[in-house]
Amino acid sequence: MPDAEIIAIGSELLTPQRLDTNSLYLTDQLNALGVEVVRKTVVGDERERLTDSILGAMARSQIVVLTGGLGPTEDDLTRDAVASALGRTLVFDQQICDQIEARFRSFGRKMSEINRRQAYLVSGAEVLVNDRGTAPGQWIDHSGVVLMLLPGPPNELKAMFEHQCLPRLGKVLPAQAIRTRHLRCVGIPESDLDQLISPVYKQYPSVATTILAVSGEIHVHLRARCPNANDAEALVAEVAGRIEPLIGDRIYSRNGDSLEKVIGDLLRSRHATLSVAESATGGLLGGRITAVPSASDYFVGGFVTYSDEMKTKLLGVPAEMIAGHTAVSEPVAQAMAEGARARTGADYALSITGYAGPDGEKIGLMFIGLATPDGSEARRVQLPGDRERVRMFSTNTALDLLRRKLLAAPGK
Ligand code: ATP
Repeated sequence: MPDAEIIAIGSELLTPQRLDTNSLYLTDQLNALGVEVVRKTVVGDERERLTDSILGAMARSQIVVLTGGLGPTEDDLTRDAVASALGRTLVFDQQICDQIEARFRSFGRKMSEINRRQAYLVSGAEVLVNDRGTAPGQWIDHSGVVLMLLPGPPNELKAMFEHQCLPRLGKVLPAQAIRTRHLRCVGIPESDLDQLISPVYKQYPSVATTILAVSGEIHVHLRARCPNANDAEALVAEVAGRIEPLIGDRIYSRNGDSLEKVIGDLLRSRHATLSVAESATGGLLGGRITAVPSASDYFVGGFVTYSDEMKTKLLGVPAEMIAGHTAVSEPVAQAMAEGARARTGADYALSITGYAGPDGEKIGLMFIGLATPDGSEARRVQLPGDRERVRMFSTNTALDLLRRKLLAAPGK
């Protein structure tokens, strides 16, 4: 299987203001075809450096994707640099020029003279139609190396890659099938998870295994490539079948569903309702739960009780309890959850209270409360990171506590 390199062109991509996101999209697309991206380069609008990058990429890889620098201005150098790297000329194409002119006319504008630059093709290139902008792309086969010249604006690039490049790649890539598994896990640090599963996945070098830490969760991606679909499915199933029991119930989804979506489905299937009481997270937990469409099926509402007085007034947490234990304590978290459950009539209630930082000695100390039809409890957790992470991670812990309780609970 050929390897690919991506060259993102544009001086603005070397500033702190603009990020090269096109290569993330392209990498995702190429990986899905089984093509590994082995190097990415960001180059400014400078002819020699760009020509060097193109020559280097062609010497190493069989697929070179270039994005950006196809515009009409002097600093749009991709066409010139590719032509000089390949030792080819640039050829004016009247038909493309007419199309660009017609596009301007359709917007009631006149094409300026400089746009003629966009009608030059590297000799021997195939045109990749751009139905979202003026700059056409180009597809070049040069001594077994495929070069794709794609526009910089992400919406133009995506449409062109999908409609023009994918069908062409399908013809040049060897036949193969890819099967994947995406396991989403919570409640285990990345390094512990890796230690747990690496003895297995290391035995399968032909299955690409990626472990990603995402907002306090860990995602495990397995990707098997084989000449036919049955073999790829059997291989990925074999690896997943050995890995999954090791991670156990820390896996919360196998289909890309978020933790809040999984909880929503569990609540719905049990005809149960939920409310929340939040202190340190100030609505973050309720926000995540209600980000799922149709959350009204199970979510009744919540309380943001930041001050001690509000915890007492809205949730009925005894003032003496707060005075005796402080607001960040196990009894208060439990009383907050009980108060939310009693006052909303929901079947379940979650609460969060803690120190999110950045100041103070107890940063990251959080208490998560859960009230259920069978009683209530509270957990103490010490979470790592800055304020944003502590707040986000504590919502994961709360949602996971509820998930485990629901899994053990029968429906109504
Ligand atoms: P056009 O002239 O039609 O806009 P172009 O191919 O010359 O196309 P550029 O001028 O290089 O494209 O980039 C246009 C815009 O596209 C940039 O201002 C930027 O917003 C976006 N862009 C370019 N390259 C990237 C990239 N690699 N990732 C994300 N956005 C990009």
